[in-house]
Amino acid sequence: VPRFPTLSATAAHHARARPDAVAVECEGRAVTFLEFHRRGNRTAHALIGEGVAPGTRVAYLGRDSEHYHELLLGCARTGAVLVPADPRLTPGEVAHVLSDSGAELLFADQDHLATVAALRPRLDGLRNVVALTDEGPEGFAAWRDGHPDTDPDPDLGNGPGAPLAQLYTSGTTGAPKGVVLAQSTFWAINDLLARHALDWLDWRPDDRSLNVLPGHHIGGPWWFLQGFRAGATNVVARGFDARRTLRWFRDGGITTTLVVPSMLTILLAEPGVGPGDFTGLRKVVYGGSPMPETLLKQCLEVMGCDFAQIYGLTETCASAVCLPPADHVPGGPRLRAAGRPYPGVAVQAVDRSGAPLPPGEVGELRIDTPALMDGYWRRPAETARTVVDGWLLTGDAGHVDEDGYVFLHDRIKDTVLVAGENVYPAEVEAALRAHPGVADAAVIGVPHDVRGEAVRACVVARPGAAPTPRELITFLRGVLADYKIPTSFEFLDELPRNASGKVLRRHLRDRAREKG
Ligand code: ATP
Repeated sequence: VPRFPTLSATAAHHARARPDAVAVECEGRAVTFLEFHRRGNRTAHALIGEGVAPGTRVAYLGRDSEHYHELLLGCARTGAVLVPADPRLTPGEVAHVLSDSGAELLFADQDHLATVAALRPRLDGLRNVVALTDEGPEGFAAWRDGHPDTDPDPDLGNGPGAPLAQLYTSGTTGAPKGVVLAQSTFWAINDLLARHALDWLDWRPDDRSLNVLPGHHIGGPWWFLQGFRAGATNVVARGFDARRTLRWFRDGGITTTLVVPSMLTILLAEPGVGPGDFTGLRKVVYGGSPMPETLLKQCLEVMGCDFAQIYGLTETCASAVCLPPADHVPGGPRLRAAGRPYPGVAVQAVDRSGAPLPPGEVGELRIDTPALMDGYWRRPAETARTVVDGWLLTGDAGHVDEDGYVFLHDRIKDTVLVAGENVYPAEVEAALRAHPGVADAAVIGVPHDVRGEAVRACVVARPGAAPTPRELITFLRGVLADYKIPTSFEFLDELPRNASGKVLRRHLRDRAREKG
């Protein structure tokens, strides 16, 4: 895999080295590396024509397509910063991202144009809106085509240290903040691995890599840039659809993909799914939320390919810790770990005063990584609270074992405090999921007069099953200490989740509070 410091240098290299190989495929449209490089240049000229300068925020509100990635390259060439917003946001939430980022230009799917038009009077800085369609005078093609294919002026502040993307954390724990990430951050980990001659992420130029995570989530651009750097073909899905994904695995020549665990649950629940559906698949990378052990075992059995887990945050550019394929031994001791830090990355559990804890002791995890965000956009105080002495405080509770493997317990804000004892929802949820009548479970804390908080389980039953609270309590008695056993139960049809598959425990807590 060639090593170039910037996205544009990488694009130029691939355009020379393998001009006719396919860089990006979307809905049957194939863009070669040469054409992708040229489109990046045209996009850059069009951006410059809009008055874009280094640091200008350029927002994207739509489903993924080749245009998203062409814009990313155009931004890299001009020093502009791409701000992708979740297309499922409400108008008020879109307004927050656009005004907080100070976006001057917006690319939006057709079905968002009316929303944007209504918001425009509130958005002083927004100078132009381009429709993400190839048709019509307001469309992307008309906006960009006609501009030259040649390299724009190289001196635009588009070096490796320049910011490339600003991603808004999805807000499972608070108000969305813009995480600013530099170009070099996206492959800082690959450079570390190369320096140590390690191949944990195992990229090959003949990979056909499926992109199912959305571009507004760190997994989207990170995974695309991983494949692009390696010279692989990136197949861009416009969202996740289980049947379409299985067809891609079966007949579409897909060799690798990045998913969140809930996607694997959905895939394996498709009728008739079996090992024959995954014969072309070489490696699946997963992360973003806890991987249930039973699901991982099922994946290893049915899918039969290599698996690697990543753990990280938007603030660490996706991945700081990795559980490589070699640690995915069924029944092996590492299967419950999130992984170990890459060489050159450090992870520690610390106590409330910030002092490192001995191996095995649970505290807040903090990370020292070269793939660290520049900071939260226009929030110096929050940045200073989160990055302390160069360490990123993750908000995750966990421990590190004697061998340096990282184990996650739960988010600190989700921890339930029952009469002074910490209950980690993930542990109780895993125990509940082991019951044959339980398809899914989420555990939250609800206020309790005497104990401070009490444990409540929100349970989704398997089709045809109807487990009762009494039955579940009896089942948990042999597995969990008394104080961890839920004292109230709620049965739901499904759990609320965000785009990256995380259960929105905050929503469940709000509902519990409203109901009293
Ligand atoms: P917010 O920070 O606003 O709550 P978010 O949840 O979308 O939003 P992300 O940066 O997308 O923020 O997610 C990072 C979090 O995801 C981590 O702190 C951790 O809790 C969880 N996570 C990531 N990878 C894993 C993993 N492999 N196993 C378990 N949890 C993971």
